[in-house]
Amino acid sequence: MSLEDIVIGINNKVFGLQLCQIEEHLYIGTYAAIQMTRMLNENNIKTVLSIIDHQIAPELRVDGIAYHTIRVTKESAFELLSYFPTACHIINETIKSGANILIHCIDGTSLSTTIIVAYLMAKYEISTKGAQNLVASRRRLICPINGFGQQLMLFESMGYTLNANNQQFRQFIAEIYANKDHFKAYFDRQSVAENITKDLNYGKRYICRKCNFLLFHELHVLVNDEKQCETLDEVRNWSCDRIFVEPMRWMRNQLEDKQQIIRCTGCSQVVAKLKVWLLTNGCKCRLHDGIQCLQIHVMDNCFKIVSSNQ
Ligand SMILES: [Zn+2]
Ligand SMILES: [Zn+2]
Repeated sequence: MSLEDIVIGINNKVFGLQLCQIEEHLYIGTYAAIQMTRMLNENNIKTVLSIIDHQIAPELRVDGIAYHTIRVTKESAFELLSYFPTACHIINETIKSGANILIHCIDGTSLSTTIIVAYLMAKYEISTKGAQNLVASRRRLICPINGFGQQLMLFESMGYTLNANNQQFRQFIAEIYANKDHFKAYFDRQSVAENITKDLNYGKRYICRKCNFLLFHELHVLVNDEKQCETLDEVRNWSCDRIFVEPMRWMRNQLEDKQQIIRCTGCSQVVAKLKVWLLTNGCKCRLHDGIQCLQIHVMDNCFKIVSSNQ
């Protein structure tokens, strides 16, 4: 199906600025739309997906409608990417049941539009631009998705899902959350991605030389995008020998305590130093140039590398 067929195939309904149909089953709206009870009922809307910073209060809920919230807060820095698969699932389940869904934020612009663009991208396997044009063709209101471009681009490059093997994705999540010390959210969002990644490839194990405690896997070693076109060994020829890793769960207390050294959980020897204070003048070698997320510098000689199944 071409994009033009999709665009022409529907006569969408527009209900003022508050509520607008994007395609069959799919409505976008403002916060005010959730209180337009008659309109919701007349349009068979049985699911409301809110992209806001709180749950919809019980007194605002309409009987017979299921409510879901993607909580966007200051802490989440408007990170929507890790929620795209959940949002797509909620939309698909509603449609499968034959009902319609309203996706809304406060003003019905960029947050809700971004979710709808991600859904349409996945549904029609199209680019961000294509999905954006689709939405624009159905709606007169200008819907900026500036600031979400990188997230949508990553979503597309991961095949319209989350792929926790993807270095760019891992570093993006670390930048959003770990750089700002939101470690709980960081590990939570990372888990969401890891749980839906088929064939999560941990790679070699790096264990403590002294006590054999599993420090991290090859998956957690930070490298810039070069890794995607060359093997790690090739890139290493052009780079420093240092190893930087993303934050690990077992380090969480030490990171939250703002420790600048990280000690092994098993034997307490110092295994890493935090490089967070040097983000702007991080290593410029080919392996590490351009890495923006919190970097934990692993001490040489504190670990042994063993194969993944050892
Ligand atoms: Zn380097
Ligand atoms: Zn140890």
